[in-house]
Amino acid sequence: MRYVYADNAATTAVSKTALDAMMPYLTEHCGNPSSLYSIGQTAHRAIEKARQQVAAAINADKSEIYFTSGGSESDNWVIRGCAELGKKKGKCHIITTKIEHHAVLHTTAKLEKEGFEVTYIGVNDKGIVDVNDIAAAIREDTCLVTVMFANNEIGSVQPIEEIGKLCREKGVWFHTDAVQAAGHIAIDVKKQNIDFLSMSGHKFHAVKGTGVLYCKNGVKLPNLIEGGGQESGKRAGTENVPGIVALGAALEEACANIDKNAQKVSALRDRLFEGASKISHSRINGDTEKRLPGNFSMCFEGVEGESLLLMLDAVGISASSGSACTSGSLDPSHVLLAIGLKHEVAHGSLRLSIDENTSGEDVEYILEQLTPIINRLRDMSPLWERIIAEDKGE
Ligand SMILES: *Cc1c(COP(=O)(O)O)cnc(C)c1O
Repeated sequence: MRYVYADNAATTAVSKTALDAMMPYLTEHCGNPSSLYSIGQTAHRAIEKARQQVAAAINADKSEIYFTSGGSESDNWVIRGCAELGKKKGKCHIITTKIEHHAVLHTTAKLEKEGFEVTYIGVNDKGIVDVNDIAAAIREDTCLVTVMFANNEIGSVQPIEEIGKLCREKGVWFHTDAVQAAGHIAIDVKKQNIDFLSMSGHKFHAVKGTGVLYCKNGVKLPNLIEGGGQESGKRAGTENVPGIVALGAALEEACANIDKNAQKVSALRDRLFEGASKISHSRINGDTEKRLPGNFSMCFEGVEGESLLLMLDAVGISASSGSACTSGSLDPSHVLLAIGLKHEVAHGSLRLSIDENTSGEDVEYILEQLTPIINRLRDMSPLWERIIAEDKGE
């Protein structure tokens, strides 16, 4: 049986480049970067090289890059940090969107309990935020606007440069969760007016448990972890040297190939859409243009997403119903509800996230398997019977 991994938005395999780069730091270059002897300094230099690679990838300065344990940590740190700074100036209002990752939404929910006010901006039926809605929501006491670069479930890419420009003009800080974008679509923090940005290594072929927070120079973001002087004293603790080295190498490689990969991957994704759209009572979720190259998201009526995933798994296809973080819960995805889908439609969602390692044969295999599986599930579904009866006007 063929095996097709189509869940790269949940996590990716470590690339050969990243693995080769990190290996020596697990063995011979095992020193503590804070130690003064040479193997310690070798490790220190490796971290600084990775910091430079990350800075170059997003047009930032090396001094603006902080290594973290991942996207969730970066999101938590920056949102809580800005809230703390805002509160000191009497600014207790935060603006975000209804389609953010839970690392953002659960953090803002916690802040609401602590007395902050949060405005959740909606999106259009393609999952795109309107800059005018953000402009209308900004107040005197707004301390932070946080809008994700690209959505992890439906792939919609937000008008980041315009939002950044607006926030600059209004003197409000702007953070973007760029976990899905980094290494996949071009990022330029200067051109796009971004003050803070989160990334995660395992979404671009580095290691799980590694991430980055970019924080523009001049902002005195509160420390996250007290202790030693690592990460300019802002996040103490001996660095994950191999993980950081892998992250720098993987991001550099992804950015060097960004156009080539995007072209290849989006062509495969469009073939998936073309094939799967032949299935009746289906819909594409998200914007077909402003979209991550590797993101495919559709809903199939009369199908239960979880059953679909299990049946795809049985034929060697790893897919997702949306977000890895909402699976296990019976509630439909907050993102699919935000684009206006009814509960029963949102339940039949399928996300495939492919990348440059996906082949044309993989895509054809998915399409070959998908149609009969959906037909089988529909044959067993009372919901589908009802849909068909309604179609006939019964
Ligand atoms: C995966 C993901 C995160 C969480 O990143 P971790 O490194 O797994 O903590 C945050 N935001 C988005 C958009 C993601 O896709």
